[in-house]
Amino acid sequence: MRILVTNDDGIYARGLWTLVGALKEVSEVVVVAPDREQSAVGSSVTLHQPLRAREITPPVKGVKSYCVEGTPADCVILALRNLNDSEIDLVLSGINEGANLGDDVLISGTVGAALQGHLNGIPSVALSVASLEDVHFDAAARLAVVLVRKIGAEALPKDIFLNVNLPNLPLDQIRGMEITQLGRRSYSDEIKEGHDGKRKYYWIVRGKPEWQPKEGTDIWALLKDKISITPLHSDLTSQQALSPLKELSPTILHDLFIP
Ligand code: MN
Repeated sequence: MRILVTNDDGIYARGLWTLVGALKEVSEVVVVAPDREQSAVGSSVTLHQPLRAREITPPVKGVKSYCVEGTPADCVILALRNLNDSEIDLVLSGINEGANLGDDVLISGTVGAALQGHLNGIPSVALSVASLEDVHFDAAARLAVVLVRKIGAEALPKDIFLNVNLPNLPLDQIRGMEITQLGRRSYSDEIKEGHDGKRKYYWIVRGKPEWQPKEGTDIWALLKDKISITPLHSDLTSQQALSPLKELSPTILHDLFIP
């Protein structure tokens, strides 16, 4: 088995190399990660400028490693097409510093990389720990190894795309695991205005998120100090809205042609 490891915190992030160190014991690993932090770039792909990639000397010996001047999704695309000549069996993105819960998955670079793996038909997992400080990566790295074994043994569906979040705790203090749905988590975005001496600018500053701790959601699991695993798919269609919208459709069409 050959695993591609990437992230959105950048090639020298501690979470990435903790993960690589653990995975290297059970699998072949190749690392292709952004050369700098790319958090909150989502699934963005760079199409309007060239991408440069550079092989680096990895902190974990014996792992072919590249950094790319691009997004996490760019890294996955380059890894699958150019920077690596053997087949990739699994994409692991992380270990991210900070949770990616609920609506976060829509802008998360960590999840964006896993989505890109999924869109290329490869089982993919995004891994995050819910803290930006004093992060405990060990439990997440161990869980990654367990998931790799399960995916390798085909105990999990082939079209898997998982969003995994862990509470920031040592393994012996984690109180279990839940298979969850995405919750709702909204941010009050504050805009700071300033001037750079030439032009005015606006800076979006994210406030603390508002959590809706509904039972069965990823947020609820984390609040109970449990691991959350959410199976994702890329189809954003709202099944519930299909039929009311179909009913409304003739009147929309009518008003379009007869003002
Ligand atoms: Mn990040």
